Amino acid sequence: MIQQYITNIIGSGLGGLAVAIRLARHGHKVRVFEKNPGPGGKLNSIDRGQYRFDTGPSLLTLPELVEELLSDAPENIRSLFKPRKLDKICKYYFPDGTVVDAPSDPEAFSRTFSCLTGERKANIDRYLKKVCELYDLTAPVFIFGNFHRKEELFQPKNLKVLFNLHRLNPFATMHGYNSRRFSHRNIIQLFDRYATYNGSSPYSAPATLNVIAHLEHNKGAFFPENGMFSITMALYEYALHLGVEFIFNTYVSKIKLDGKKTTGLIARDKEYGSDIIVSDCDVFHLYEYLLPEIKAPAGSRKKNLSSSAIIYYWGMKIDPPDLDLHNIFFAADYRKEFNCLFKKMTMYSDPTVYIFISSKAARKDAPEGKSNWFVMVNAPYDNGQDWNELIPQTRKNIINKLESRLGFSIQDKIEQEFIIGPPEIEKNTLSTAGALYGNSSNSASSAFYRHPNFSKKIKGLYLTGGSVHPGGGIPLCLASAAIVEKEVLREYKNS
Ligand SMILES: Cc1cc2nc3c(=O)[nH]c(=O)nc-3n(C[C@H](O)[C@H](O)[C@H](O)COP(=O)(O)OP(=O)(O)OC[C@H]3O[C@@H](n4cnc5c(N)ncnc54)[C@H](O)[C@@H]3O)c2cc1C
Repeated sequence: MIQQYITNIIGSGLGGLAVAIRLARHGHKVRVFEKNPGPGGKLNSIDRGQYRFDTGPSLLTLPELVEELLSDAPENIRSLFKPRKLDKICKYYFPDGTVVDAPSDPEAFSRTFSCLTGERKANIDRYLKKVCELYDLTAPVFIFGNFHRKEELFQPKNLKVLFNLHRLNPFATMHGYNSRRFSHRNIIQLFDRYATYNGSSPYSAPATLNVIAHLEHNKGAFFPENGMFSITMALYEYALHLGVEFIFNTYVSKIKLDGKKTTGLIARDKEYGSDIIVSDCDVFHLYEYLLPEIKAPAGSRKKNLSSSAIIYYWGMKIDPPDLDLHNIFFAADYRKEFNCLFKKMTMYSDPTVYIFISSKAARKDAPEGKSNWFVMVNAPYDNGQDWNELIPQTRKNIINKLESRLGFSIQDKIEQEFIIGPPEIEKNTLSTAGALYGNSSNSASSAFYRHPNFSKKIKGLYLTGGSVHPGGGIPLCLASAAIVEKEVLREYKNS
């Protein structure tokens, strides 16, 4: 007789949805418990008046990871996710007054930036080639691989990486490496900014993380035709199609153990038995609240949390042609900004401002002639700062900065507004202190201390999502789900 395994998943963020699909395809009976009324976690959507906003991620790379997950889905579900490659990655407003559209094509990018800055084109080309080589070398082991299992790490195909670890420059910082490669501060700042893609500082994060730039600059930046939330909807619909059961508005308060094995979970005072538990929760939340009797591994006890964010969602009466889908207004003193975020633990008075306007690509997201601005600044994680003071003060600083760079008034154009800061991010998604990516990668060893995608202490417990290996961001969360699938199948293959 075929045994049907029961899997309980805690959380319907991207990792949770992806694991649900992967295990349901293997015939598991899958239930997803979510404290919120709907799926998506950080990858969510909010309507305000005539405006729709993606609440979290806005930059999409490696869309093929979503497409691969949906490859066996019926056409009406697959067609919910339509990624389009962007011609321009981002519009940059540099402190020296330069405004430039960064072309997606690597050749056009190096030509444009070489002309603008006087930096030798060959330097930029060499850098883009180098980050490509680094990615090809490291991604199979450090992103898509399960290096916490010795038998996987020491496979013959990985020896090349292990012998070339010194080439990853783990002991230089991103900024140190970039400032040795380039002489113009605008190019250094542009490549330094990729540290923020996992909530880290370019002045501390290892130069290995310069590979992040490869994804946008060589592989391409994408945007789904119907906005970022279409990723959540496509995965959710496919999971439903595969028979996954979603139990919303239901907080999981405890994981049940029998010795060193999971037997199920408790939600709303009811016990739901299962063979397997997959946690898509923030790893600190998991150990603190759901498994208080188990000591977390060392790397998941010490909190070196990543940065958080304040996001001002503005429904704007105008649709300025000067702004694109992605726009960045850099801080004049980037080092001071990161010093504030990670050392002083407060907001910087001249923050780097990121504006994402989905209605530039998804026209239905705002009425004709208007636009939906997602205005985000990096923030420290919540350690008790007075956000009631910092959030309005930062708002003033942002408006002053935008008005002086764009040359028109902002305040009188805002007709809808809501704001979230670190405490709301924690409340909405249970991410400890509102940190966006679990622990930061502000040291050479951070990658090795991320929690594996399986528990070494408890049989039947697996972990996916942005706070565990390989890290935060859409592609990495999807990679974590694929590793969970492989791990589960080692022990729980229906036969
Ligand atoms: C503002 C912002 C901007 C971002 N920008 C980008 C970007 O541009 N590009 C990119 O790739 N990534 C970006 N990210 C990161 C990306 O959104 C995340 O890494 C990813 O979506 C996290 O997915 P996850 O699987 O970890 O689950 P999460 O999204 O963290 O969701 C976890 C879910 O689990 C639920 N949950 C937790 N504990 C319990 C419990 N005990 N019981 C029931 N339910 C529970 C929560 O309610 C939540 O819905 C951004 C994130 C934010 C917040």
